Amino acid sequence: MSRNQELFERAKKFIPGGVNSPVRAFGSVGGTPRFIARALGARVWDADGREFIDYVGSWGPAILGHAHPAVIEAVHDAAVGGLSFGAPTEGEVELAERLCSLLPSLEQVRLVSSGTEATMSAIRLARGFTARDAIVKFEGCYHGHSDSLLVKAGSGLLTFGTPSSGGVPADFTRHTLVLEYNNVEQLEQTFARLGDTIACVIVEPFAGNMNLVKPTPEFVQALRAVTEKHGSVLIYDEVMTGFRVDLACAQGLHGVRPDLTTLGKVIGGGMPMAAFGGRADIMACIAPLGPVYQAGTLSGNPVAVAAGLATLALIAEPGFHARLSRQTARLCSGLTQAAADAGVAACADSVGGMFGLYFRAGVPQRFSEMQQCDAQSFRRFFHAMLDQGIYLAPSAFEAGFVSIAHDDALIDATVAAAKKAFALVAAG
Ligand SMILES: *Cc1c(COP(=O)(O)O)cnc(C)c1O
Repeated sequence: MSRNQELFERAKKFIPGGVNSPVRAFGSVGGTPRFIARALGARVWDADGREFIDYVGSWGPAILGHAHPAVIEAVHDAAVGGLSFGAPTEGEVELAERLCSLLPSLEQVRLVSSGTEATMSAIRLARGFTARDAIVKFEGCYHGHSDSLLVKAGSGLLTFGTPSSGGVPADFTRHTLVLEYNNVEQLEQTFARLGDTIACVIVEPFAGNMNLVKPTPEFVQALRAVTEKHGSVLIYDEVMTGFRVDLACAQGLHGVRPDLTTLGKVIGGGMPMAAFGGRADIMACIAPLGPVYQAGTLSGNPVAVAAGLATLALIAEPGFHARLSRQTARLCSGLTQAAADAGVAACADSVGGMFGLYFRAGVPQRFSEMQQCDAQSFRRFFHAMLDQGIYLAPSAFEAGFVSIAHDDALIDATVAAAKKAFALVAAG
């Protein structure tokens, strides 16, 4: 038995499913999850000592590659000074200043420990600010696992959603409207009918939790227009896209000023850290200034803050995102070409340092199109890549991540492996 198998068997005894977050269990691709022993730059090593080029990157945070020496040094220095105080620190002030100076829509920001906390708090805040209950989300977008967001579309157009998870009372999702991503007509109809009761719209400005789905310019415009018209809060959930697609984030690429923004992943540089922020008049509703309660024992943790500051300093260097985007685009054109050469209906697309690999003929624009991806072929492709030392997200419906440490040689080695993997898929 391999060491990975041994660890998985042990893990399953004491951890449900053997993992601390479900996608890690390899459920949709089958086989044994790789237990990661260490990582450096673009590479990870598993418990059996096998080396992989990593395109998961901790699901987004590892934008500099793993264990960047400057980040490790910052973490070390902070840790030596104490792990947590439950009192304010200078580092938090610096990070808040940095985030607000990088994102013009952030007038104030509060630090939390996970993306789930950030989105949950932003929604509570939007409801407190507007004194409205209803919220709008889009099918296929993921905003963490708080109750009112674990919801799927109701049976018909303009109906409120139903829980998509056990343990969530239908009453908790009664106020959540689930609409179709990129469907401008449906969005406008919904607002025409219910706009004045809607507290907020929360959206992934590039959807990265249904593989990668880009918004149309019309959809981006309509989101800002209808929320402005009806006094609803527009929340850009940039937990994934924040500093990953551009230094100005998705909102910079869209030229949109959302009312609230949630951040996570990259801003913690691999440590548990997230944030929500935006308009000062909305942020003034948060305790201790206002009536909307929100708190956290480890919020603004000094070690996480140090990792975040070190990461943001490095990615703010001129040309960083241009290079990251170029490398990611190089990967995607290589993958698309390799699929075409093998006669497999698959293609890839990217924005900044995130990409989608789709086992269908064209790039999807909607959740329903994305669901047409051939999961069976992906599964075969995934294992053929894993066998060649390429570690992709273990699901046909997740985005992939490239770091600045993925240089031409690693990208080209990945494309060469993909040629063989697509040929295997084509052979059936
Ligand atoms: C990852 C993610 C979250 C949840 O963040 P956690 O830190 O896993 O709780 C929320 N929104 C988006 C868009 C994400 O990608």
